[in-house]
Amino acid sequence: MGAQNSCASACTSGDKDSQLIFDLQSETSPVFQLPWDPLDVLSEDIFDDKVMAEKLPGAVCGRFKECLITGAPCSEEDMKTIADCLFAWARERGAIDFSHWFFPMRGGGGAVGGMLGAYKQDTLLDLDFSSKFTTKPMKACLPADRLFQGETDGSSFPNGGLRVTHSAAAFTTWDRSSPPFVLNKTLYIPCAFVTHFGKCIDEKTPLLRSMDAVKREGLRLLKATGLGKDAKTIYSYLGWEQEFFVIKAEHYKARPDLVNTGRTLFGKLPTRHQQGDLNYFAPVPGTVQLLLDRVQGVMLKIGCPMAVKHNEVAPGQHEMSPVFRVANVSCDSNVLFMEVMNREAQRLGLQVLFHEKPFSGINGSGKHANWSVGTDTGLNFFYPGKTEEGAKLFVTGIACLAHGLRQYNELVRCSVATAGNDHRLGAQEAPPAIISLYPGQGFEKYVDSVINGGDLLGYKAEKKKQATGCSQADPIEANVEDRNRTAPFPFCGNRFEFRAVGSSQNCNLPVMVCNAIMASGMSYLADLMEKGLSHRDAVAQLFKENRHVVFTGNGYAAEWRQEAAKRGLPNLNTTPKALATWSSEKNQALFEKLGIYTKEETLARQEVMYENYVTSLKIEADTMIQMVETSIWPACVKDLKVMKMYSSKAEVLVAAPEATKKGGWAPCGTAPESKNGNQEPKKTSGTRRDAYEAIMTETEQLKSLLQQLPEALAEEATFLCDVVKPQMERLRLAVDTAEGVMDAELYPYPSYETMLYSHHFEPMPRRK
Ligand code: ADP
Ligand code: MG
Repeated sequence: MGAQNSCASACTSGDKDSQLIFDLQSETSPVFQLPWDPLDVLSEDIFDDKVMAEKLPGAVCGRFKECLITGAPCSEEDMKTIADCLFAWARERGAIDFSHWFFPMRGGGGAVGGMLGAYKQDTLLDLDFSSKFTTKPMKACLPADRLFQGETDGSSFPNGGLRVTHSAAAFTTWDRSSPPFVLNKTLYIPCAFVTHFGKCIDEKTPLLRSMDAVKREGLRLLKATGLGKDAKTIYSYLGWEQEFFVIKAEHYKARPDLVNTGRTLFGKLPTRHQQGDLNYFAPVPGTVQLLLDRVQGVMLKIGCPMAVKHNEVAPGQHEMSPVFRVANVSCDSNVLFMEVMNREAQRLGLQVLFHEKPFSGINGSGKHANWSVGTDTGLNFFYPGKTEEGAKLFVTGIACLAHGLRQYNELVRCSVATAGNDHRLGAQEAPPAIISLYPGQGFEKYVDSVINGGDLLGYKAEKKKQATGCSQADPIEANVEDRNRTAPFPFCGNRFEFRAVGSSQNCNLPVMVCNAIMASGMSYLADLMEKGLSHRDAVAQLFKENRHVVFTGNGYAAEWRQEAAKRGLPNLNTTPKALATWSSEKNQALFEKLGIYTKEETLARQEVMYENYVTSLKIEADTMIQMVETSIWPACVKDLKVMKMYSSKAEVLVAAPEATKKGGWAPCGTAPESKNGNQEPKKTSGTRRDAYEAIMTETEQLKSLLQQLPEALAEEATFLCDVVKPQMERLRLAVDTAEGVMDAELYPYPSYETMLYSHHFEPMPRRK
């Protein structure tokens, strides 16, 4: 608003520059600029704590907050008051519909604009059943029971056997700690999704349960250690960094691989790609800047504090991230971010790719999950702090984390095991599949000192001033520990950054596992202390038992794989290998003990993850075959035909240059000079023909392997991974080799070069 006002008044002064500004805001203005200044509308459309405090009667608001801490249900009267208040607030923002917004355990989100939520839009109305008329009149309202709970079919969402068609009921129930918001005239209500028997069949419920577990075990640990005495509750926090690619929608539509699988199954890199790091933090291309600005504006209005946007390493790749918040709210806003991104990109004729590896040969996309755990009184388990209490909590927190990461190492790997992510982990662009803990080299020394009897307060978390060597740039204050970008779980000053999360994933599962392993460490440490061990000795014991998981070297180096094997750390470098470990006795027991999954739910989740993997790979293989048969092979044939002509001409030129001068050139087979008749001359098109024939051979082989898929889910996944995927790679190689020699006009799909760069040269869209 501010910008518009200033433009209008500047315009009246009539000077040239102001006129230009005015033009930008009116007839010829870029069509898609948001009509508001994002910093003027912060959180206008979210029903958060602040709005609740303003709008609800104080007593109701107080009781609601208390319920969030105790977990007790709200009274019927309070539910009604809250629903009425939310309805009035949503109507002021133009809401016509409301939606329970939930998060089924779907996979393969890379193919459909990220792992999006599910919702059906219900109109904000009901019949007035108190009316005496037979035809009951309608009234606009939000009935309290419909705010807090909804019912739907659970059998058609992935559920691992927990629902079937003849026993299908499932319920959505408001996650009261994640505020509703209004977007596109719809009131979104973030929900957990459970079966008729309360079993979870979604991503959110296990996260909420894990947050309860961290709270429970964390408070126990605080009691045992005497730290954080005033804490009433413990939260986990998440700040995500979302990477993605942006290309033109018309190119996306023209590639069946992108439409069906989210990644290019074929394609040759342009000669300039990410060498030279020219794209990293470079100025954002105009059309993409418009997209990022719009998304930032929409997200700020609905309460998500988008804080960072920049170009990433690969051409066409970018990143956006918000300020961190309580984990469940942050997970919700990440899903929302992907939805808003898709919608805004569509308006601009762009397409966002959230797949982990849309383009082969250049970096893929991740979603670093910055995660921490802290009390309502402001103590952070991962911040060394300036007080003795903070310092003790910090080393205690890292001991718990080391325990969790060592003892439940495989679970952490499983939480990021997807078909898409298999292309990045261990590929020198993302951490290896070996899960280790990087607390910093200084801290590693401290771990050894504690094991050898050192004091609990022996870690000196000092920031050091480092001179820049020039008089005009101030000395820098370096962090307590250096960054390690090769580590899956590095310390970042006040948090850990789980770097292995895939870009299309819902963060719920990885963060749930972080919470679960942390709660396991908290519980173990509290047990030791409750049995009489001193705080120091208990921490030392955890470090000793889990020393092997601490690694501060280069995680990309080949030697680390050998060293990790010696240490007994698993290297689960494919999804099927990882998923086979998910439901081990040990893991089932942990989930059950922490109240996160029952045994049945653990097994169901495993089945769903296998299904998601198998489905993604089968679609990829089928898409490859279809692309070859309907477009790539026909292009090869056309190219060969043309080449036959030109090969003959080449021969003519060599054999009888005079003939061409006289206009005697004729297509292959008809030219009198052609010695080969209808035979294509090997000299110029032989390499082509070999390359093209390889495509058909590899395609036939792929088809034949797909006929041999085993029936059992785990075996099918392993077969797809170990046998079918390498064959897909061979086929890809054949096609990409062909692309390298084929007439570019004939190649049937937009090339990598076109997709990665052409939108960089587009004029900004303008008002018609
Ligand atoms: P990087 O330098 O790693 O690229 P960014 O600034 O892009 O970092 O993102 C860091 C993310 O970590 C942000 O979302 C930030 O809000 C979040 N973050 C900061 N402190 C914490 C914390 N204590 N807990 C969780 N997340 C945090
Ligand atoms: Mg980061």
